[in-house]
Amino acid sequence: MPPDPIACPVCLAPSARPLLEVDGRDYWACPECEARFLNPSHHPTRDAEHAQYMLHDNDEADIGYRRFLSRLAEPLLERLPPGASGLDYGCGPGPALAAMLREAGRGVALYDPLFRPEASVLAQSYDFVTCTEVAEHFHTPAAEFKRLRALVRPGGWLAIMTCFQTDDSRFANWHYRHDITHVVFYRDTTFRHLAENWGWRCEVPVKDVVLMQRPGHAP
Ligand SMILES: [Zn+2]
Ligand SMILES: [Zn+2]
Repeated sequence: MPPDPIACPVCLAPSARPLLEVDGRDYWACPECEARFLNPSHHPTRDAEHAQYMLHDNDEADIGYRRFLSRLAEPLLERLPPGASGLDYGCGPGPALAAMLREAGRGVALYDPLFRPEASVLAQSYDFVTCTEVAEHFHTPAAEFKRLRALVRPGGWLAIMTCFQTDDSRFANWHYRHDITHVVFYRDTTFRHLAENWGWRCEVPVKDVVLMQRPGHAP
């Protein structure tokens, strides 16, 4: 008998089904929002995550990494008024995106649960919130997205970059899955589904980047 469906950690629909088992870990798929996710009982510990993050080399000056981040920064900047200020949520140890946005004249506060755990910045609201290469690490994505949405002012933007999952036949060998701290995988349809539920606009200017706009006008 197939196992009972479980709740999707992204959209909370109680209908996720097993996708496949690989490397002793099992992955599930949500038919509602099309997210794929690791069985929560296989989530890495905080210590294992920290060790892995220290291997990431996101140097602020690294030209290749800046080019990579420009995929999000360029379409976001086109939509932001000159004096806009935002928050980089999950900035990591070397906040390269914040440096780029500041160079373009926007203010950027920083938050990271490991490297910049300043709760005060989460008590404010912003014209934009960026979240690059972070959402795939969320153990409780629905709660994280709820928190992110609350940080965005009316008319403001939530900008997310994560490698979109596209092909289940390549999932087992997909490089993105091999990082043990990557526990949830999104398709562009996942974000469109979330935005529709929230009543937000959703744009995908380029693969792996989604810009979601909260309705309303800036005060
Ligand atoms: Zn779902
Ligand atoms: Zn990652």
